[in-house]
Amino acid sequence: MSSALHPWLDTSLREALSHQQAHALLVQGAQDRGPLDFSIALARAWLCETPARQRPGGLACGRCGGCHLVDERSHPDLRLLVPESLRAAAGLPADEAGESSSAKTRKPSSEIKVDAVRAALEFIGLTPSRAGLKVLLIHPAEELNLVAANALLKTLEEPPGPMRFVLGCGAPQALLPTLRSRCQSVVLPRPDREAALAWLQAQGLQDAAIVLDACGGEPLRALEQAREGRDAEAWRRFPSQVMQGDGAGLAGWPLPVLVEALQRLCEDRLRQALGLSARSFPQLEPLKAPVATERMIATLTETAAWLRTRAAQADHPWSAPLAIEALLQRTRSALDARSRPL
Ligand SMILES: [Zn+2]
Repeated sequence: MSSALHPWLDTSLREALSHQQAHALLVQGAQDRGPLDFSIALARAWLCETPARQRPGGLACGRCGGCHLVDERSHPDLRLLVPESLRAAAGLPADEAGESSSAKTRKPSSEIKVDAVRAALEFIGLTPSRAGLKVLLIHPAEELNLVAANALLKTLEEPPGPMRFVLGCGAPQALLPTLRSRCQSVVLPRPDREAALAWLQAQGLQDAAIVLDACGGEPLRALEQAREGRDAEAWRRFPSQVMQGDGAGLAGWPLPVLVEALQRLCEDRLRQALGLSARSFPQLEPLKAPVATERMIATLTETAAWLRTRAAQADHPWSAPLAIEALLQRTRSALDARSRPL
């Protein structure tokens, strides 16, 4: 039975299931969906009720009551600790606490709330009701604040009963070293380009290569972007929109997405200035006139660094049209060779 996981993670899942020694795993991967989907697949295998000898590789059978409850996200021995912003991605209904009318208009929080951690700790204290063990899944673990991480650390060291922890994470360096060292690490591979393209095409994505390149070679990100309307056509247009300062055309783009795309565009221009070809946006017109390379590289590097600081603040509720204008203006002037005397 297939694990129904993304094909490039299948080998890692089998390896994690067969080599698992610690009761806590730290699953590291670049994008949210990778570690999250992988962690859910692990939990499903651990909670599967079909005898292990009938399941090749220890994968979940996908048919038993345990698998079914995990798929429905109603297994009593599984708790998913994710921020509001990832509840839908994790297959969970919207948070009951976020149902009030004023809450509906605000942006879902990307933090793991203290209350949710408290409830998870209570869950750890209960005896398993269906399976022989309980599973707590936390993602992204770097969103745990210091108090929550410390409270968890204690249960990681001395779980009160049969317990497995799986922590998903994009930036392991942001975790408490003591938390990291209690976990066995699983580093998820990035799919190679061929595999990523084949998968995207199987999902029905047109001109998958354009979207994949624009999204840094991350197929899950590429599919998500295309589904939100940023398809091949949108990405093809993107470099010229930036060069023309077409803020209206980019209105409605989430700021984190825009900032990341602008960073890639700067990177591509840097490559061009060094005599290489653009990697993310092949449609970015090459530099025609000879340019003051050193100066251009310095400006692009500075702009990329500035964009990184913007990325860190991109979740803040600043005025989007103004923010887009400011981002475009600065990036455009860094990309434009004509604004620079030789
Ligand atoms: Zn099963």
